[in-house]
Amino acid sequence: MSQNGGGRVNTRPADPHDDPDTPVQRLDITPRVQRRLFLLSGNECAFADCREVLAPESGGYFGEIAHIRAAEKGGPRFDPAMTNNQRRHIDNLVLLCVKHHQLIDDAETTARFDRAALEDIKRRHEDRIRRVLQAMERAEQQYVDRTRTQTVVHCSTLERMYGSELDEDDRRGTAESVNKIADQMRRAALAARQLLCQVLEEGGELSVGEAAHRGGLSKTQVYELGLQLERLWLARLEEAEWDDPGYRPERITLPDPIHDHNELLDYDFFNDLLRHAASRDDDVLNDVVVGLDFSVLD
Ligand SMILES: [Zn+2]
Repeated sequence: MSQNGGGRVNTRPADPHDDPDTPVQRLDITPRVQRRLFLLSGNECAFADCREVLAPESGGYFGEIAHIRAAEKGGPRFDPAMTNNQRRHIDNLVLLCVKHHQLIDDAETTARFDRAALEDIKRRHEDRIRRVLQAMERAEQQYVDRTRTQTVVHCSTLERMYGSELDEDDRRGTAESVNKIADQMRRAALAARQLLCQVLEEGGELSVGEAAHRGGLSKTQVYELGLQLERLWLARLEEAEWDDPGYRPERITLPDPIHDHNELLDYDFFNDLLRHAASRDDDVLNDVVVGLDFSVLD
């Protein structure tokens, strides 16, 4: 694209693929969206009467990501008003078996599947899986509740962490935010918190391989702990290659409250904690993240 002349530069979105005037281009679906789609598929095709297992135990992978509104001009249900990023957004994608993907896109049958019909198929299926996932999470919490012996010690003043940076109102609000994080951390398994502590000790990023080596765990175990932290909004799994078709996450990093639409963090607590820990010579990271004693920040 040519550069804008004469002071119109700021009216353009930072990413040209957020601009509806950018020429239509099929973009790769990010590994994060692929993972999310697969999680919400429950390993099944979204068609209600389809029993096709997408990743059977016997091996292979038979799922296909279908665009509700096509990625390219001339494709089924193509909508010229969308941006390229909207075309690859999770809301525009549905995971199907090979047979049903053909059914919705083939010239002979595609007319039976307009946008509304496909959105309905997606919503019904994903809502059902969401309910299953929520039930699992409740069961997991009960299990954790019964086995937990550790309690959280909340912070109250954050005097040591922030000193005179905060006035009285800010102090109260910030302590509330931090104690919300404390309660959320309590929901994570001890091993997950130990992993998070290692990530912090490394300055905010640790490879899955290195974490496995240090913790005496398999990489799969580290992925599972990382996923648990990610689901609790306490960390994220980062992929080595965005266009890697295997999309296995390779690093664990701290959550990014701004770009993740993080439901837990309303400010960058972990970065502040790292900065604070660098100014102390005790083991504050371990006390907070593993020991759940947030009063050491007071
Ligand atoms: Zn199917």
